[in-house]
Amino acid sequence: MADTLYDVIIIGAGITGSFIAHDLSKRECNVLVIDKAADVADGATMANSAIIHAGYDPAPGTLKAMLNVRGNRMYPEVIKEIGEEYRACSAFVVAVDDGGSKILDDLALRASDRDIEYRDISGDEARRLEPNLSDDVIRALEFPTTGIVYPWNVAIALMEEAVINGVTLKLNEEVTDIEAGVFKEDANTSKAETVKTDSFYRVKTKRAEYTGRIVINAAGVYADKIYSMALGHSADFSITPRRGEYYVLDEMENPVVSRIIYPVPGPSGKGVLVVPTIHNNILVGPNSLPVDDKEAVCTTTEALSRVKAAAAGTVKNIPFDKVIRTFAGLRPSGGDGDFIIEESANLAGFINVACIDSPGLASAPAISEYVIEEVLKDKLKAPYKNDYVHRKPFIRMYMLSDEEKNEMVGKDPAFGEIVCRCTLASKGEILDAIRRPVGATTVKGVKKRVGPGLGRCQGGFCEPHVVEILADELGIDRTEVRYDSEASVILVEEKGASRI
Ligand SMILES: Cc1cc2nc3c(=O)[nH]c(=O)nc-3n(C[C@H](O)[C@H](O)[C@H](O)COP(=O)(O)OP(=O)(O)OC[C@H]3O[C@@H](n4cnc5c(N)ncnc54)[C@H](O)[C@@H]3O)c2cc1C
Repeated sequence: MADTLYDVIIIGAGITGSFIAHDLSKRECNVLVIDKAADVADGATMANSAIIHAGYDPAPGTLKAMLNVRGNRMYPEVIKEIGEEYRACSAFVVAVDDGGSKILDDLALRASDRDIEYRDISGDEARRLEPNLSDDVIRALEFPTTGIVYPWNVAIALMEEAVINGVTLKLNEEVTDIEAGVFKEDANTSKAETVKTDSFYRVKTKRAEYTGRIVINAAGVYADKIYSMALGHSADFSITPRRGEYYVLDEMENPVVSRIIYPVPGPSGKGVLVVPTIHNNILVGPNSLPVDDKEAVCTTTEALSRVKAAAAGTVKNIPFDKVIRTFAGLRPSGGDGDFIIEESANLAGFINVACIDSPGLASAPAISEYVIEEVLKDKLKAPYKNDYVHRKPFIRMYMLSDEEKNEMVGKDPAFGEIVCRCTLASKGEILDAIRRPVGATTVKGVKKRVGPGLGRCQGGFCEPHVVEILADELGIDRTEVRYDSEASVILVEEKGASRI
């Protein structure tokens, strides 16, 4: 059988690759997404502050500024379309001295220039609205259009829709080499009508090889390596990850803040924030530390103590006795500090979407729009489809009324079988998460979609049950169930001998 010729091969299924795949799935073209991880959104998209920044921060004239502002405006509608959650929780940027107040003047000017809504308020007014703001705060800018999402579920939801609408997704496949300009004679006809590039790419993984006319490099911290593979020599940009570390505080009825609290930005970025989450936890972080290792998602005691001290500069009474987890994410930072979103000067049809550090999440819908409507404008003529199908949102019993819950349990008693004491996720919800189009295949995959492991006990009680459900549902031995990657073994008894 002839190989499929893909119109577009996207490398990377983080928020960037997922948005592009989703938006291309609305058009007549043949798209493949490849990711080395076992699930969508296991890179930077898994570990960040989850903020849809308003867009006042990036330097004027940058892609970051343009795409952040546009992305922020696009989010509420996109999130509604894919059945996910978005909360416009608003944000304060606070100054504690005259130097900080001058920076607020600049931010207010940028906000006006970009038509971003803001309010300039005194420290006392800010404290009236957020009683736990530090007594040192003398002035604040409020940005009401700042929002929060659940980033990995946004990416998963986008990819579900993409797959339902014809995109092919290959997980657990690491791209190891790319040959540029290789024409595969027996490739069958692609779906897009005219694709004006003479180049073809042979994208190789350890398991298979795929041919595509256009490659979109959305590989996060590895985007420089992926580009080097295609060029056959070093890329003209390099990515040095900047690690950000966080505390996660337990869900609280009255969280310490209801808005996001930013200090004034400094040379290393937006600073240490205090951030409410969609599930009423609080994130405190991140720091910003350049690291050489592209896998170094560890936390350190020294960095976390600095995070704690920095947060105390803007917010008091943070209940650090309620910390349930710490985590770190790696920003794919590099180049000259701006996003790199362009066709390679050397390789026709090779599109780098690289150096997508913050505000990459907030900008993602606009990045996708820019890639498809600007960068691919003359390369991919793919008309819109007439028959686009939307996904069904994840089932979340805790969000239903009692009548709705009873109806679900009446139809399937598994929805009445609580597996996770913290998030109250039921067996029915877990089974649904596994059986969906981009279903969970790992313990973290279940946690990301429906919650077991996110709560106070961090999986202490529910994880054995999740392992059992995954094994039964996927038809594998319990020892073959993984936390996330192939190396993350949970049970080690001999095959067939394991019992939980
Ligand atoms: C600490 C921190 C805080 C942040 N806070 C915010 C915020 O509040 N708001 C905001 O807007 N942005 C924020 N960001 C930035 C945001 O998280 C990123 O811009 C965004 O997640 C980047 O998404 P991506 O899809 O480009 O990359 P990733 O999510 O990293 O995805 C890249 C994918 O490529 C895959 N891949 C890599 N190499 C290969 C290969 N060889 N073969 C196959 N697949 C491969 C990876 O497995 C991964 O899934 C933050 C980032 C960090 C780290």
